[in-house]
Formats: sequence, C-alpha cells, structure tokens
Amino acid sequence: MVGAAVVFAWLMRRAARTRAATELVRRMARGEPAPAARDPGDALAVALAQLDAATRARFDALARERDERERILAHLSDGVALVDAAGRIVRTNHAFAALLGAPLPGEPGTPLQDFARVPELDSLLRRARAEGRATEADMRLWAPEPRTVHATATPLGAPGAGTVLVVLHDLTEVERLDRVRQDFVANVSHELRTPLTSLRGYAETLLDGGLDDVERRAGFVRVIRDQAVRLERLAQDLLSLAELERPGARPRLERFDLRALLEQQIAAFRPRAARARLELALEPGGALPIVADRGRIEQAAANLLDNAIKYTERGRVDVRAGGDHGRAWFEVADTGEGMAAEELPRLFERFYRVDKARSRARGGTGLGLSIVKHIAALHHGEVGVQSQPGVGSTFRVTLPREGAGG
Ligand code: ADP
Repeated sequence: MVGAAVVFAWLMRRAARTRAATELVRRMARGEPAPAARDPGDALAVALAQLDAATRARFDALARERDERERILAHLSDGVALVDAAGRIVRTNHAFAALLGAPLPGEPGTPLQDFARVPELDSLLRRARAEGRATEADMRLWAPEPRTVHATATPLGAPGAGTVLVVLHDLTEVERLDRVRQDFVANVSHELRTPLTSLRGYAETLLDGGLDDVERRAGFVRVIRDQAVRLERLAQDLLSLAELERPGARPRLERFDLRALLEQQIAAFRPRAARARLELALEPGGALPIVADRGRIEQAAANLLDNAIKYTERGRVDVRAGGDHGRAWFEVADTGEGMAAEELPRLFERFYRVDKARSRARGGTGLGLSIVKHIAALHHGEVGVQSQPGVGSTFRVTLPREGAGG
C-alpha cells in the first residue's frame, strides 16, 4: 500500500514537471522570458532555462548587429540600394532617397524604375546583371537639384541570382571644387598677364631707343618698378591665401592689446592718409586684451585700412574697437564711394572687384577682403560690411576674446 502511494506521488511529481516544462517551452516559443527553475534538482527545467538564456543572448547579439548595420546604412553619405532580380527595391537608405529627391527611402517591393526614374540607372543595372560584374557610370540627376553622381552596380550572390547592390556617390562638391580651382588658375593668369605685358613693353621701348630719350626714360623705368611692385603684392597675397587655406591651418595665438595693435597700424598708414588728405583716427578707449594671431590681425587691419584709404576720395577714416568678455571687435569706417547692396554678398570672394579700374589703378590685387575673411574664419570670428553708395563703408571684424580656433 505504502509502495503504491510512493509510486503514485512519484508519478504526480513527474507529471507536474512535464507540465511545468511544457509551459516553459510554450513561453519560450512566445518569446517571453523563462523564469528561473523553481527546483534546482529539476534537470530538464534547468537545461531549458539555460537554453532560453543562450538563445536570448544570441538574438540580442543579432539585433545589435542589425541595429549597427542600420545605423551605418542610415548615416552613410553614399546612396545605397539593394535591388532584387525583378528590379524591385529590397532596401534603400536615406542618402539614396535624398539624392533622387524622394522624401523617404523606397518601400521594399517598389520597382526601382518607379522610385528613381533615372533610365541610365536602369540600364546600368541591366548591364551589371548581364555581365555579372560590377559596372559603373557617372550620371546626372535632376531632382531636387542638378547633381552629378558616380553610380556603381554590383551583382550579389550566385551568378545569375539577379540581386544587385547600387551605390550612388555624389560628385557635385568635387566638381564644384574643380571648377573653383580652374577659375582660380584662370584668374591668376589673367592678373599676371597685364603687369607682365606692361613690363615687357616698357623694357622693349627702352631697348628700342627709349634709353636715349632723356626726358621720358625715368618715367618708363618708374612704370616698370610699379608693375614689379604689383606683381610682388600679388605673389604675397597669393601666398597668404595659400597659407590661410591650407588644411589644418591654425592661428598662432598670443595675448595682446587689440587697441594698441590698431594704434600701430594707424601710425603706419598716417603718411598715406595725409597724402590723400584724409583724416585718420582711432576712437579713444581702454586696453582691449585678446588672444589671437597677432600677425594675422595686423594683416586684416592693414587690408581694411588700405581699402578705406584707396576707395575714399575725401573725408575721413575712423577706426573703432570694443567688446565684452566673450567677443572683441574692430571696425574701419570711411566716407568713401561706398557700394550698392547687391555687390556686398560677393565682396569677399577672391578677385571680386566692384570698381575694377580703380582697384587696378591703385595696385589692388582683388584678394585683400578674401584674406580678411579667411583670417576671421581662422579665429572662428567673422567679418561684415555695411555700405551705402556715396556715403561710405564700414567693415567690422569680430573675434572670440579668448582665441578660439587654436
Ligand atoms: P582690392 O585689392 O581690389 O582692393 P579687395 O578684396 O580688398 O580687393 O576688395 C574687393 C573690392 O571691394 C575692391 O576692388 C573694391 O571695389 C571694393 N571695396 C573694398 N573696400 C572698399 C571700401 N572701403 N570702399 C569701397 N569699395 C571697397
């Protein structure tokens, strides 16, 4: 009797364990976390809990990997699309959509043809599938704005599987930089041509009898000297620009008094201002200690003073400076010819001149203001201008007080 009761109890316990194990497996199947085994002696429950933990860890690792891949894809600046054998989108990233002017990545299943509407892209895909190897081409996209992209279509998987990875690399910025470089070289050549032609002409005139022309020969030599000075100035400005534009260019920071620096610059320009019958003054004020690249700030102030004197017929040039604990500024205000509002946005471009004849006649290189802009940017500061034709212009440079950009 006792034996039967023991067997019965044993059977009941077994049935309970089987029920518990079945429940556990059901929970696992539903993706619910398995509770810790209630009875550590229950080997099956312990093994199932271990299996659950291991499976969960593997799933978590896969999910992390997937999230990472998604993040990379989402932040990639290249447009990426996976297209199946039927030409339907499997995946695209945001950059792909943005390059094609679509607000969102393509829905899986959408025919690429409908999403992109770029016939060249379709033929690139066809070629990649037919040839079974990566195929590339540059193509023009028109929406939302004209862009040039380098497209690569790479067949994936087994030959003939038909899945193709498309990568679009935006070349617009590269092309723009190329154009800027070409324009720059053309501008420099143009700037060199005039003084060189003039140098050659006057030298030849001197050689062809001009040396015997006692009255005019000194004048010829003076022109040659002036043109040489002009070339020298151009070379200096080009060098300054190259240094300022060098990747990784840093200001050489030191602490100095901005007002004292302006005083020195004004003293250096006073003879020129006097010759032009212009008043030149610094508004009085206390010391303005700042941390900046002294040499560069001297150059910026000199360029602005040089312009103010060059483009002011009569009146005065006033220099003012000020600041609070975060920023310091100085400005050069003249009563010169001024400029129309539509000129101002382009003023700081290299070789941009409003008054071409006057700039050239005064030995201007057309680079002075772009150097000032670069110097301000190097310090994480800025330069601005206010101007009115016939009234005058005021250029203001603002700099961080404690030398950002170092
Ligand atoms: P430039 O060597 O020709 O003076 P900048 O880059 O210094 O070159 O200036 C660009 C152009 O901006 C000048 O050619 C001139 O037309 C105009 N400009 C600059 N400063 C002044 C000013 N203070 N008043 C009037 N025009 C100015």
